[in-house]
Parts: sequence; C-alpha cells; structure tokens
Amino acid sequence: MKTLRNLIGGIWEDSRGDAFHDVVNPATEEVVARCPSGSPEDVRLAVDAAVRAQPDWAALSVAERVERLSRWADTIAAHADELAELECREMGKPVALGRAFIGGAATGFKAAVAEALEYAFEEIIPAPDGGSTTIVRAPLGVTAVIVPWNFPVPMTLGALGPLLAAGNTVVLKPSERSPMSAVRLLELMDLPPGVVNLVLGDSRAGAPLVADERVGLVHFTGSVESGRKVGERTGALLRRSILELGGKDPVVVDAGVDPVATAAAVAFGAFANSGQICTSMERVYVHRDIAEPFIEALVEAAGTYALGDGHDAGTVLGPLVDRRQRDIVARHVADAVSRGATVRAGGVVPEGRGFFYPATVLTGVDESMLVMTEETFGPIAPVAVVSSFEEGLERASASRFGLAATVYTADPAHMAAARRIPAGVVWVNQWQGGGPERLYEPAGDSGMGATGSRAAYDAATRPTSIHTAPAA
Ligand code: NAD
Repeated sequence: MKTLRNLIGGIWEDSRGDAFHDVVNPATEEVVARCPSGSPEDVRLAVDAAVRAQPDWAALSVAERVERLSRWADTIAAHADELAELECREMGKPVALGRAFIGGAATGFKAAVAEALEYAFEEIIPAPDGGSTTIVRAPLGVTAVIVPWNFPVPMTLGALGPLLAAGNTVVLKPSERSPMSAVRLLELMDLPPGVVNLVLGDSRAGAPLVADERVGLVHFTGSVESGRKVGERTGALLRRSILELGGKDPVVVDAGVDPVATAAAVAFGAFANSGQICTSMERVYVHRDIAEPFIEALVEAAGTYALGDGHDAGTVLGPLVDRRQRDIVARHVADAVSRGATVRAGGVVPEGRGFFYPATVLTGVDESMLVMTEETFGPIAPVAVVSSFEEGLERASASRFGLAATVYTADPAHMAAARRIPAGVVWVNQWQGGGPERLYEPAGDSGMGATGSRAAYDAATRPTSIHTAPAA
C-alpha cells in the first residue's frame, strides 16, 4: 500500500506526524492509499520552504512566471486521463466527466495566469499638485490554498493560477479524502523548489496552516462550518481570506419554457457529479402551468442516470464520496418523506458494495424539510410547484446561502428580474455558463471575498501608493 508524502521545498518527504488514514475507493470500498493526517511540524516546514522560495519567484518577470505556469497547464492537459483515473479511484467521479473538467480547468488556468500580463502591477498616475502617485501591487508573500474533494484538480488549479502568477508562493492542502490526484498534479509540475508545497492531512494540517502568521492569504474552498473556523482565525490574525463555501442553489422554471428540454437541463444540474457540486441545483421551483410535463420528463431523465463504478464507460452517476456523505443524503430524503414528500424516482440505497445513491426526484416538498434548507450534496431534485414566477423568485431568494442560482424563462421581464436573487452567480437559460471574465462574490453564508478575473489579482496582491512631490 502506497503511503503518500508531502512536497516540501521541492523534496518529497514523509510526514513528521504519526497519524495516518486510509483513502477508500467509494465504488468498491477498497483501500487505495495511506495518507498522513497532518501535523503542525509538516505545516511549519512547508511554510518555511514557501517563505524561502518567494523572493526569487517574485523577482522573475511576469512573462516568465506566466510562461512557466502555462507549460505546467499543458503538461496537466496531456495527463488528463491519468489524473481523471486517480480522481475516480479516490472520490468516485466517472473518468469521462473528470477528464472533461480537468481539460477545462487546465485551459482556464492558462487563461487566468495570462491575465497577469494585462494586470497593472504598477501604475503611475499624475497628482493634482504636479507630482505623481505610483501604485504598486506587490504579492502578499506566502499563501495557503485549502480545497475540498469534489473537484480535486479543477478546484486546486482555479485557486492557484492568479496567486502564483502574481508572485506568491503557495502551501497547498488538498482534502484528506482526495490526496492522490494532488500528489500527481505536483509531480507533473516543473517550477522552482518551494513555489508550491504540498501538505497532506485533514484539519490537523489545515488548522495550523491557517494559524501561521506568515501566511498572507488563505484561499479556502469547503463547507460553511469549516469556512467559519478559517474566517475566525484569519480575522483574529488580521490576515486575508477568500471563503468559497457551500450552497443550496435554486432553479426557477417559468411557464412558457419547453418542459422536456428544461427538465433535461435541470436533471444535469441536479445529478451531475452525483450532485456533489457546490453549485448543483438543490431546490427546483416550477410554475404550475408546466409542472406536470416537467416533472414527468425529470423523472424520465433521472432513469437515464445509470449508477456504477466511474471506470465503466456506461456509468453516468458514480458513487458518493463516502458513507458519511451518503448517510446525509439518505437522511434528507427520509426527513422529506416523513414530512409528506413523495419519491417519484430513486430514493432507495442500493444493496451491495460502494456508497451509491440513485438519481432521485421528490415532489410535494416545502421549506420545512432539510432537503430544501440544508446543503444535501447528493443526486436529489426536490421539486416545489409555484403559482407564479414571482413566488418562485421569492422562495428561491429566501435562503441563508447565496452561491449561485438559475432561472429558465422565455419572458424578457423575468430574465431581467433574475438578478434579484442574492447570489454570486445567476445563470439565465443555462447552467454553468460564462467565460473567464466571470467576477463574483458569494452572498450570505456561502462565503466572502470577490474572485474571478481581475478580482483574483486584487486579492493576490497588496497595493502601496507612493506619492512623489513635483520636481522643485
Ligand atoms: P470541508 O469543509 O470538510 O473540507 C474542505 C477542506 O478544508 C479540506 O481540505 C479539509 O481538510 C479542510 N479543513 C477542514 N477543517 C478545517 C479547518 N478547521 N481549518 C482548515 N482547513 C480545514 O468540506 P468538504 O466536505 O471537503 O467539501 C464539500 C463542501 O465544499 C461543500 O459544502 C461544498 O459546497 C463546498 N464547495 C464549495 C465550492 C465553492 O466554490 N464555493 C466549491 C466546491 C465545494
């Protein structure tokens, strides 16, 4: 059994801690690796290495950093199959889906680092007194990237690009549940030693990393519960954090749209990656005028999401990441049923090995149920019928979360009204669209810190203004 190691200053090293855990393939329940659970000493060494490497990395020209990072992206794209296979083994994602997302993430990483070439790291502005103001945006120094398991490679690349291109070094802590793809990702990297360091483990590595005063920014992606702890710690230290947390994303389906095509789109939004996407559609509000054909088509679509091992070509829906996650999903469905919901598809834990759960459609749901208020993170589409678009919009907006939202409508006035939903991203007549120019900040408990595009570089740097008096 392979025991995974940390990458510290360019050298693969055994963890200094004495706690380890098994990484389990959720489709077979087989142990596939042994992973260190993290120790403060590992974190200290990784931050030391990142501190040492940072000045030389920042001293390279922006173009040189962009060039080196782009080459890494090309290598990642060339190894997308292998990385997707590792993601499948560690967290169950179907290989084809993983490959597509990793390819997209490598392209996105290249585009994001290329933005450094346009970013104003230094700008000179004439001052009213005839002098000048020079604004210098310098890297923060050492940064921490902490990611979850649901898109191990894409989440990591999404956070790393602007931080590195801006001249920061990084200590990366992947999820304890999906460390294998992270190890391979860094094996494929050809950057100076210490520019990216890897510390494996759970909160035993994450908490000391967040608490290290030498870390200038923590880019955290994960649950609201852990994000709150990270925010408390970085707040006490007066350090920056970007917190990209959980959601309970609504989708409003208006009268006047094609019920069958929209049901297919909603099925994908609710079931893709077994519902384990932070922006999965987790609440469906459908207009009563089209409710019947829409629900019928959604139930039919659910039946096409074939459950299985993500290595099999016929599999559309892989297992959930682990037993704990499946228990949450089963609990939400049971709670809904006990309060009067009807299971129209799925809803039963399959017999046998693996942490599988089928694509499930619930009707007769309301906001007294966990499945409509708490993040489920499973392949569940709970459908509430509303009597007007306005009611759908209101109920979509009434949530403590505010990550993303989707509206399907043919009415231009309703398209315009979609922006009233408080969320970082609102999609109209599509889901997951938008290019690299996307700029957003989650609302409510879904996190804080604007990111995407230029905002990612603003977050990765600290501006200093140098005012120079006019020449005498
Ligand atoms: P999690 O909060 O349990 O863990 C996320 C990461 O944080 C892991 O690496 C974990 O080891 C680490 N961690 C846990 N406690 C910590 C602490 N006290 N200090 C520092 N690090 C700590 O979340 P998860 O179960 O791995 O991921 C699923 C969650 O992530 C869902 O809520 C999902 O919505 C969210 N998510 C959000 C986004 C987004 O962009 N907003 C994207 C993907 C996933």
